[in-house]
Amino acid sequence: MNCCIAGGGPAGMMLGFLLARAGISVTVFEKHADFFRDFRGDTVHPSTLEILYELGLIEEFLKLPHSKVRTLTGQIGDTTLRLADFSHLPVHYKFIALMPQWDFLNFLAEQGRKYPSFKLEMEAEVTELVFDGDRVIGVRVKTPRGDREVRADLVVAADGRDSDVRERAGFQPVDFGSPMDVLWMRLSKKARDPSQLFGRIDFGRIFVMLDRTDYWQCAMVIPKGGLEEIRRRGIEALRADIVEMNPWLEDRVDELRDWDAIKLLTVQVNRLREWYRLGLLCIGDAAHAMSPIGGVGINLAIQDAVAAANILIPEFRRGSSIPIEALRKVQERRELPTRVTQRAQLLIQNNVIKRVLGRQGRISPPLIFRALGAIPVLQRIPARLVGLGFRREHVLPGV
Ligand SMILES: Cc1cc2nc3c(=O)[nH]c(=O)nc-3n(C[C@H](O)[C@H](O)[C@H](O)COP(=O)(O)OP(=O)(O)OC[C@H]3O[C@@H](n4cnc5c(N)ncnc54)[C@H](O)[C@@H]3O)c2cc1C
Repeated sequence: MNCCIAGGGPAGMMLGFLLARAGISVTVFEKHADFFRDFRGDTVHPSTLEILYELGLIEEFLKLPHSKVRTLTGQIGDTTLRLADFSHLPVHYKFIALMPQWDFLNFLAEQGRKYPSFKLEMEAEVTELVFDGDRVIGVRVKTPRGDREVRADLVVAADGRDSDVRERAGFQPVDFGSPMDVLWMRLSKKARDPSQLFGRIDFGRIFVMLDRTDYWQCAMVIPKGGLEEIRRRGIEALRADIVEMNPWLEDRVDELRDWDAIKLLTVQVNRLREWYRLGLLCIGDAAHAMSPIGGVGINLAIQDAVAAANILIPEFRRGSSIPIEALRKVQERRELPTRVTQRAQLLIQNNVIKRVLGRQGRISPPLIFRALGAIPVLQRIPARLVGLGFRREHVLPGV
């Protein structure tokens, strides 16, 4: 029995690792030559850290360079508020590890390679599905060495929000819309900079800074489709907007020399009605693209992979073809947490973000944020929602 996985993101790499660890023959096809892409989330949440703990990998993982985020702080107008405190979570590692995603993926690849049944093929793009009647029985893969067909007992589409594989399977996600997009840019970091400053909301803008140890990865949230207007105003005006929100960045905004330094990330929130068909399962962003709110996309992708492994490994071990009921069980297990998380993200998008982006001038924190900032015990609630999410998965014994 064998499995092939399209896409070496968090979902595909984690599932590949778990299957190989269980002795199942698995090939992960990743279309890029490496994992080094800038526009990926960098947050490894407490629930993912707990999975690494359950797998006995946590100590090695935490040897990689990372920063620990124990609380989330935001500045709304001129008020700085602590919004979440992870230190009371019922897990072993009570923080978010901020680590470039390529380090996390390389780590999973390295761990996978310890098992003989694990194969990772880079520069291998899944271009077609191979069918026998209704059943998916393999993929066609394009590589620099030529195209070939690979047969598999199960194909997993873990190829992200723009999944070609799900399209080839005839699936079309239901789109829930988003009022925002994100501009993604880097600014250098200096020794005297404030530490772990997360988000600033003011002047009708939202600016988030992620500490990537030697530089700041910055995200400016803009109204959907708003880039044209921003470009029309010119790069100088964008730099001025950034400085207006964070005056201490004035000495380095010139690093944003031209529009090449600024990438547009299009935010999507969508979900498939059916995540599977005979011989094929979609997981991670391919099944449900998440809004960046809460930075939970990687986390959900990992939880999908763990749930899929828990359900599918016994089926692979049985040695007969994977029944459609097993694939349905994966969707049933993961659909509710996805729905609940997306519902919460849509509520925030439409009630908070949309309003902020439409506002002129200074902003003062709404009552709910002031209450969060003033009553530390309340900070445990968002910490739980963001850090652990709904319906946490565990690696089952024997799997
Ligand atoms: C602006 C923005 C910021 C975000 N920030 C965060 C954050 O801070 N924290 C967080 O948790 N999440 C964040 N997310 C979401 C997060 O990046 C995704 O939810 C997560 O990466 C999904 O993992 P995945 O494995 O399902 O898909 P992906 O990470 O998209 O991985 C899919 C992989 O498949 C490969 N691939 C695609 N097509 C093929 C093919 N045909 N054949 C072979 N390989 C293929 C791709 O190259 C890619 O490596 C953010 C998203 C956005 C848009």
